Amino acid sequence: MEKKIGAIANGVNIDHIPQGNAWYIIKLLKLQRKYPVGIGLNLPSKRLGVKDLVKIENYRLTEEQLKLVSVFAAGATYSEIENYQVVRKLQLTIPESVEDLIICPNHRCISHQHRSRFAFKIVRDKIVVNCHYCEHNYELENLQEFKI
Ligand SMILES: [Zn+2]
Repeated sequence: MEKKIGAIANGVNIDHIPQGNAWYIIKLLKLQRKYPVGIGLNLPSKRLGVKDLVKIENYRLTEEQLKLVSVFAAGATYSEIENYQVVRKLQLTIPESVEDLIICPNHRCISHQHRSRFAFKIVRDKIVVNCHYCEHNYELENLQEFKI
């Protein structure tokens, strides 16, 4: 059985986040000290071996936020909770593309003067992102700089 971290009455639960990515999600959502947040790091997971988990009280993600979070949490489970009941649950999948999130590692790329745009694809079980401007491909897990 997987260990549970304190149940919340109302809010969201993002579970099965790849290890190390909870921090990106917290930064991305810009919670600005307004909402109680529970973070689980390096928790045992049957599916992933080790996982992160994020719970935010009294909060809902917009569709745009869900899309951006999916970049860091492909395969994670997103649940919305009301009165301790799960009222919406979905598995996050990588988006087709995102704008203004990924910083192109190619320093000469003109995306640095624009809103960056990257398309996603799966290549041999790895998530690969393709820069719209310089057309370079990068493995997502090797990228470290994001506009968050
Ligand atoms: Zn580029």
